[in-house]
Amino acid sequence: MKELLQEIARQEAISEEILGAAFQRGEVAVFKASPQGKAIAVGTGLRVKVNANIGTSGDLHDEDRELRKLEAAVKAGTDAVMDLSTGGDLRSVRRKIVSGSSVPVGSVPIYEAIVNSVRRKGGAEKMEPDEMLDAIRLHGEDGISFVTVHCGVTLSALKHIERNPRVCGIVSRGGSFLARWMRRNGKENPLYERYDEVLEICRQYGMVISLGDGLRPGAIADSLDAAQLEELMTLGDLYRRARASGVQAVIEGPGHVPLDQIAPQMLLQKRLCDNAPFYVLGPLVTDVAPGLDHITSAIGGAIAAWHGADFLCYVTPTEHLGLPDVEDVRMGVLAARVAGHAADLVRRRGDAWKWDTEMSRARKARDWKEQFRLALDPDLAREIRSRTCYGEEHETCTMCGDLCAYKADSE
Ligand code: SF4
Repeated sequence: MKELLQEIARQEAISEEILGAAFQRGEVAVFKASPQGKAIAVGTGLRVKVNANIGTSGDLHDEDRELRKLEAAVKAGTDAVMDLSTGGDLRSVRRKIVSGSSVPVGSVPIYEAIVNSVRRKGGAEKMEPDEMLDAIRLHGEDGISFVTVHCGVTLSALKHIERNPRVCGIVSRGGSFLARWMRRNGKENPLYERYDEVLEICRQYGMVISLGDGLRPGAIADSLDAAQLEELMTLGDLYRRARASGVQAVIEGPGHVPLDQIAPQMLLQKRLCDNAPFYVLGPLVTDVAPGLDHITSAIGGAIAAWHGADFLCYVTPTEHLGLPDVEDVRMGVLAARVAGHAADLVRRRGDAWKWDTEMSRARKARDWKEQFRLALDPDLAREIRSRTCYGEEHETCTMCGDLCAYKADSE
């Protein structure tokens, strides 16, 4: 691990001492590399990272399409991907994604246990607890770097939702099927009860456990309710148990959150979970923008990362509408990267400030080649310039033409 931390310290332009200390405190988690790739780290003092979810569904299971989505996510600059496949040959697509990825790959093993139980026994509620753990082991064997496990969905937390019904109930796929299993079988969550075995599997395969927020809010009106808070407190305890047993852990977070609740929720997580790395989905700051949810989540993601979130799970324009395709994945990653970079600026990362200053200098000089080289997505900037303008050689652009302020100010 020492060499890996040295390499990451170089990547992150941070001192080995500061990184090493944050790692020892559990405030930084290192995601092991996939066979072709490099490891990354998320947490205190590091650049905000972005994850892109890909994977088949029961209705759309084309492995080549998923590999094109993987390629698009990596080209757009994602730091990690998660294979959330639930359709077709799950092991085959997972192995292809892991072997074809240059970034760490995560997964949600409970999905495979659910799909197998539905296919073989006719219902997810017929899953055996051993099958839930076997799925985690299988993903470890296939080279997965981090696994989402919904250990915080407990009978006690579910009672809050029964007492105070939500607008959208439980929206996490893993959380909703686990809750149904618990209700139908009248039993506690096996991933909570047999947590030590879950940790042992993660240790065996060197996987980071991503403590899933199965009770995250899926509607602005459901944000910050008792069920979400109880789960967060449980995840804090489970995080401490993971650390005590030498397993790296990150905490997953919301969801649909109104603007004025984002900073408080980041503070709550950092307080209740000992500054553990925080991996948030979005958050989405409104429910009313289907087709634009890469934007609603980028707004929330920027504020969340400003206030402590370390790892942003992207949201694509197809969220709430359908399975994303290649271009949706690209737009989702780019939007999340804008959010992460905007936060890096206010988290006082020198390299972030240097990047923005270099871009503004190139813009002032109307050096289009340099602007494209520095752009978060050079192809997108070049494509729009050529669509709206003359060639790269032309000094100004069609926005102002000869009334270019930069030109006027420098003459
Ligand atoms: S023409 Fe206007 S928009 Fe274009 S570079 Fe100059 S100031 Fe900027």
